[in-house]
Amino acid sequence: MLDGLDPEQRAAVVAPRGPVCVLAGAGTGKTRTITHRIAHLVSAGQVRADQVLAVTFTARAAGELRGRLRGLGLGGEANAVQARTFHAAALRQLKYFWPQVVGDVPWQLADRTFPLVAQAARQVGLSSEPDAVRDLATEIDWAKASLVAPEQYAAAAARARRETPFEARRVADVYSGYEALKNTPDGLLLDFSDLLLHTAAALEEYPAVAEEFRGRYRCFVVDEYQDVTPLQQRVLDAWLGNRDDLTVVGDANQTIYSFTGASPAHLLDFSRRFPDATVVRLERDYRSTPQVVSLANRVIGAARGRIAGTRLQLIGQRPDGPEPIFREFEDEPAEATGVAKAVARLIAKGVQPAEIAVLYRINAQSEAYEQALTAAGVGYQVRGGEGFFQRPEVRQAVSALRQAADRDDLPDARGDALVSVVRAALARVGLTAEEPAGAQARERWASLVALVELTEELAGHDPDLDLSGLMRELRARAEARHAPTVQGVTLASLHAAKGLEWDAVFLVGLTDGTLPIAHVLGDGGSVADEAAFEEERRLLYVGVTRAREHLQLSWALARAAGGARPRRRSRFLAGLMDDSPVTDRAMGGRGRAVQLPGCRVCGKSLLNATDTLLGRCASCPGEVDTELLAALQDWRRDTAAELGIKPFAVLGVKAMTAIA
Ligand code: ATP
Ligand code: MG
Repeated sequence: MLDGLDPEQRAAVVAPRGPVCVLAGAGTGKTRTITHRIAHLVSAGQVRADQVLAVTFTARAAGELRGRLRGLGLGGEANAVQARTFHAAALRQLKYFWPQVVGDVPWQLADRTFPLVAQAARQVGLSSEPDAVRDLATEIDWAKASLVAPEQYAAAAARARRETPFEARRVADVYSGYEALKNTPDGLLLDFSDLLLHTAAALEEYPAVAEEFRGRYRCFVVDEYQDVTPLQQRVLDAWLGNRDDLTVVGDANQTIYSFTGASPAHLLDFSRRFPDATVVRLERDYRSTPQVVSLANRVIGAARGRIAGTRLQLIGQRPDGPEPIFREFEDEPAEATGVAKAVARLIAKGVQPAEIAVLYRINAQSEAYEQALTAAGVGYQVRGGEGFFQRPEVRQAVSALRQAADRDDLPDARGDALVSVVRAALARVGLTAEEPAGAQARERWASLVALVELTEELAGHDPDLDLSGLMRELRARAEARHAPTVQGVTLASLHAAKGLEWDAVFLVGLTDGTLPIAHVLGDGGSVADEAAFEEERRLLYVGVTRAREHLQLSWALARAAGGARPRRRSRFLAGLMDDSPVTDRAMGGRGRAVQLPGCRVCGKSLLNATDTLLGRCASCPGEVDTELLAALQDWRRDTAAELGIKPFAVLGVKAMTAIA
């Protein structure tokens, strides 16, 4: 049980029952440590397996924890350990305690709260359009997770600099209306936050319930503790009562859910709250190569106003691997194609598809990658969400297009005209010219924009394309993406990638405006919201630290092929890379990078276009080196032949790195 642990991990594993806090960076074995600790406590007879309640961030993580416990030889006992999310644990407890607490008032879980929020919005005269309702629901969720009552909402939202969809006072009205609407004549409707609130209240207010519960569970463990909300902390406190048998692990640098009300304060306050706590810091990174670790250190080292107690440097433990690759593309379709090809190359080299992930900032970005991977014949699965064509807004948009196609009064619109017809049809389901405010509205908007762009791309290839042709194409695309195999490449948002790891990770769409996301920036690109801006940086840190070995970071200068190039690479990349990324254009649009012969004098391999042409090294100007010139010309000819392009097209090369 203690094998495969370093001395610090072991100290956390064998610490006597009581408060234990592991504060450590990504990949240092926090999750491994809690798994071993549970296994150790159970096998040493210090606690019974069924007295352990371990809280994980997702249901899948809970399943993995049980799997790992079985792997540690806990056998059937592994199943007795309760490993659940806060919500799943609360649901179970509430079902059990409800009759004691509330009697025979019926209740049910309201898994669809939107209709209630819409009704509450209408009651106070606000829009009940889907986007508005989504944003109102987000605010209500945030308030409840932050233990903010309707009457406190306006002040709290101002303090937290929430981007409220309506005047805060009005949102508060919707919030209180919504709470009232859940008392229906048929019983109570409880939303996900209510499960937690009622569980905490039952334990706080009913001593008999508390006594029974605390007799049952004795040992609590929480993973990803940096992202616990005040509401979840209240539940945890209610579970504990005046006991302190609590193990938490977390990394404040991976706080990426503050917008939902989560806060690293609980993690950072742990040793103040439990002065006797065993506090362990881990610095050895077992997940990633030193090259990836070094990049991760630089990403987080650049953070401004760092969270106290987060000055942790990771020290790579694995053998050397390839340097992270930075790639710039002309436009997003080229980026998606380039990434899909690189994925296919890794698979051809023997990397398992399940060991590869493409990670992005917002879900709408998945469309381009689903498409490009399908075209490259690579299976994939979208994690933590549906594929592009399954998203509600996309389904709604496609049905609006179908209706438009079925109407025969439509002019026979074809090519860049078809695009306007599509725009007009999508305007009816919420496509606006300007990006709307509100996170949910933006995601939805971005999906609609992605549909327009897809139309533009298709119409670009086929000027004769009409609406029914477009519909056929969309249907074919949706169908081509049949149920993904479990073995596929993972597509996931950075948020959904938390706690996971892959051999190869592609971080895509790293432009200013996507990461950091536009709404944390003000006019002229200045930082408008410092705290939210830093959370964007932490997202990059989370992304980088998911890679065990291969890591590629890419971005595109334009959205659509041939479009204007208003984009810049993410400002977070400044200082992380040599200023000459491997550009796609440099490789004649083929997105291949190759090793250039180095200068014979200084050995430098970074040569610009003039160097290539003149056979002269930028660092050591002087005589033309005829041998170098010959070597460069050979290289140009071979590269051109390999890529099937003219040697001249290989000229724009500024920098090249070998892809191992
Ligand atoms: P994150 O912050 O991303 O959640 P973590 O700190 O929870 O990361 P783990 O997932 O527990 O890290 O571990 C990262 C990887 O390192 C895993 O593959 C794990 O098996 C491995 N690992 C952890 N500790 C050791 C060790 N002492 N020896 C060898 N491998 C280890
Ligand atoms: Mg972990």
